[in-house]
Amino acid sequence: MNRGIIGAVIGDIVGSSRESKPVSRKSFKLFTKGSTITDDTVLTVAVAEWLLNRNLTSIDQTLRKWANLYPNAGYGSSFKRFLKSEEGSSLGSTHNGAVMRVSPVGYLATSIDECLRLAKESAAPSHNSKDAIEAAQATAVAIYMAREGRSKEDICHFIEDRFHYNLRTPYDALREEIHLARTDRNGASREANHERIVGARTATEDALIAFLAGRSYEDVIRNAIALGGDADTEAAIAGGIAAAYYGVPDEIIQQALNYIPSDILYVINQVDGTNWMPSKLIPPKSSRWSRNDVVIFASDADDTMGESSYYLTHPSRYRRHYNIGYPIIIFGPCTVSLEDQIYLLRRKCEDSKDTRWHLYDIGIESGVLSVEQFRTLFAWALELDNVLVTPTLLNL
Ligand SMILES: [Mg+2]
Repeated sequence: MNRGIIGAVIGDIVGSSRESKPVSRKSFKLFTKGSTITDDTVLTVAVAEWLLNRNLTSIDQTLRKWANLYPNAGYGSSFKRFLKSEEGSSLGSTHNGAVMRVSPVGYLATSIDECLRLAKESAAPSHNSKDAIEAAQATAVAIYMAREGRSKEDICHFIEDRFHYNLRTPYDALREEIHLARTDRNGASREANHERIVGARTATEDALIAFLAGRSYEDVIRNAIALGGDADTEAAIAGGIAAAYYGVPDEIIQQALNYIPSDILYVINQVDGTNWMPSKLIPPKSSRWSRNDVVIFASDADDTMGESSYYLTHPSRYRRHYNIGYPIIIFGPCTVSLEDQIYLLRRKCEDSKDTRWHLYDIGIESGVLSVEQFRTLFAWALELDNVLVTPTLLNL
């Protein structure tokens, strides 16, 4: 079993596809098409790097550095304000952003006092408010105590005494309450529910209740996500704590590695004392694309079929310019054979190392290619680091 920040990162990945499509049941697939790392993972790694190099860098600098490396990770509005602010300034958000990134403190601190102090420092640049600091402290202390082998009852008492949190709501009642408020016709009630979900104190209480009610690492992140709120953040918080208490099973980590870029995995390994090797990555969803991403798509020679127009547009919601996709002509007549087209694509991928090529299922849904044919034609993509491949090719 693996105890470490990998637990928070996996919570983020599993929750990522449920943030916009909330679930109310605990039975769902852990990894899906929309799974991806988000701001919770990127900033957790930023806090980790700061803790590992405190004599060389500041928390302010590492947060900015990692946010620049991953500009489309889905940062909240107050964190974006922090990124635009002068270095060394301090914003007072009361939202859950400092809690979701605090797990490295719980794993690297050597005493409860140090844990409390470092959690406060890790929150300070963007979340310098009583609620956000206490929530980060409560989460870090829960991890620290779980590492020390303390019982859930001990952890619960400490947090109730110190921060006056209410952790006695039964999990099922809590889930019911949040779901009712989310679907309430009354706008004021929905607004109050939103505040509850993004608020540092309430989000942390909810994540702790998900942890206290859980029976294993996996059960805890399912609990957190099934609350139906800010799923990736709730599962990152609860998953960080559950990993310290239960450990994370190897099989879940193996699956998650398909979503964790190597620079992020490097820091995770340092904190957790593990040796996970980077795996092939699955393409992130479109909201995470940047200029370096090119999508390989199925088309016909005239470009009237397939999805090229989609990849040529500037989706207004994200206001970002995407690269033109790369067509593989599988519909209708074409003067170049499919094998030759794929050979040319392979040469392009080998030559343009700075481009991230996204290979999805091509020709399978339309019945032009069988899964076996697809796997044979594109097997070479598994050897190239700059090609992110569909789960179909990975046999997942
Ligand atoms: Mg997130």
